[in-house]
Amino acid sequence: MVLLLGFGGIMATAHELANIIFPDITDTIDDLEKQFPPRKLKTGAMVTRFAPSPTGFLHTGSLFTSLIARKVASDSQGVFFTRLEDTDSKREIVGAGNLLLKELKAFGIEPDEGYLGDQQCGDYGPYVQSQRANIYKIVIKSMIERDLAYPCFCTSEELSEMRNRQEQSKVIPGYYGPYAHCRFIPQEEALERIKNNEPYVIRFKSPGNHNHKIKVIDLIRGKMELTENDQDIIIMKSDGLPTYHFAHIVDDHFMRTNCVTRGEEWLSSLPIHIQLFESLGWEAPGYAHLPVINKLDNGNKRKLSKRKDPEAAVSFFIEKGYPLEAVNTYLLSIANSNFEEWWAQNKSQSLDQFKFSFSKMSLDGALFDLDKVNYFAKEILGLLDAETISNRALIWAKSYYADFASLIESNFVYFVSIMGIERGIAKPRKDYSTFSDIYPAIKFFYRPFYIELTNSELPFNPNIESLVIKESLNDVLKATDFSLDEHDWFESLKQIASRHQFAPSGKLYKANPADYVGNIGDFAEILRVALTGSRQSPNLYYIIQVLGPEEFAFRIKYVIEKL
Ligand code: GLU
Repeated sequence: MVLLLGFGGIMATAHELANIIFPDITDTIDDLEKQFPPRKLKTGAMVTRFAPSPTGFLHTGSLFTSLIARKVASDSQGVFFTRLEDTDSKREIVGAGNLLLKELKAFGIEPDEGYLGDQQCGDYGPYVQSQRANIYKIVIKSMIERDLAYPCFCTSEELSEMRNRQEQSKVIPGYYGPYAHCRFIPQEEALERIKNNEPYVIRFKSPGNHNHKIKVIDLIRGKMELTENDQDIIIMKSDGLPTYHFAHIVDDHFMRTNCVTRGEEWLSSLPIHIQLFESLGWEAPGYAHLPVINKLDNGNKRKLSKRKDPEAAVSFFIEKGYPLEAVNTYLLSIANSNFEEWWAQNKSQSLDQFKFSFSKMSLDGALFDLDKVNYFAKEILGLLDAETISNRALIWAKSYYADFASLIESNFVYFVSIMGIERGIAKPRKDYSTFSDIYPAIKFFYRPFYIELTNSELPFNPNIESLVIKESLNDVLKATDFSLDEHDWFESLKQIASRHQFAPSGKLYKANPADYVGNIGDFAEILRVALTGSRQSPNLYYIIQVLGPEEFAFRIKYVIEKL
């Protein structure tokens, strides 16, 4: 306890100052230590967190840091929790916290405890900073008692005046050393001013010197030397709420976080955080400052920007209908250099099986590459069985593409059979990177869309006469046997083709082109155009099987009539 001689002989102490500022606070730091004891986890278990501020949507960079935090905790059988950092009420957007957690969940990133949006769970809460005012006050009260913090009465005018003077005399701006005016106010004077209701904030009394370097170890960057902090930062604002720098170190301590993964933009304030931990006598967690995700813009690297790049918001991937595990897969591929090699061997395994390591992380700042996301998405959708992709497409479409959803629901079994084409084989088709890609590609299977499609001129080969096309189609209509397997069906198609002067193979045609109208490929194309309205489609045999005899007959007759 620091004893001071007060005005008019009144004995003022740091204790009195602390009491007048926090008259209702009776608990101590020891009480908090007991209330939030160290976690009982196995050695090496990492306690990580994602601590968003409710100021907007989930940024792709934040998805990256939370994915890593989740992974590090899971890999080490630790705990990953979420905390809402809502101390900046001016920047807060109502409902943003809930949305952030919803978006995180959409990517399969589920916290073990913490702020879950509409509720909270876990023994280390509350997990919303605005609900932790009492905890911060207990710590600040103790800091005032220990002369680690003090009230500051400087007005914003006084502060900007001082800043101007500092700029003129070319010294480092800020509230530090000789410029930390209120540091030098005797505590009994401070006591009086508070009694007189003068507004104040609470500042940390930094023991640092900006000519000193501190040594820190970043889990990705290794040993680093940073300039020591000497700024008496504000830890409690005049509204009684703590600032981020202070609040998050108190939270990380009492939530027993031992590994912080966050964006590298926080590296510059790390000296403040380390100093606060040291002053309070607490062990700081390990820090991993993750490289930012950049974007190549006209040959220049720049940060992925909320304003310019739609993919900077994770909602982009949700709304477009990406299989969201593809985004996680992509993010792991930029996180660890050995990931892609692992993935090539383990495509159908859960990403949980991959062992992440900070040491394999590149510091260059990855370039966001949407083509690569699309590549992973195609691969992943290609691996899903028909039932699964159908169900997932339906769930997505119900929220984002009503027309598509009603098409699927009009006959779910039919949709599954469409999605089953060229699936479950060694080399499945990989034509979709999003669920939204499916709709335009499969619409032709549905009669109304087929009619619409065939309203415009059909893309038949102009070198083949209409009469030949008509006769060929008539023959196919009569001769198609739905019970044949793919091989036999194709053999039968060759026979039909021969009857209309189409060579049964490309080779034969090439040898004597003058003898034929075309080859079997040209013949199949006639059928393809008639059934799908397009020259390109998946395997014709399966299309015919899916359409079934009735629709098959309808379409052929319909086209013949149009010719
Ligand atoms: N609330 C901070 C943010 O939204 C978190 C910083 C940290 O993880 O320490 O950026």
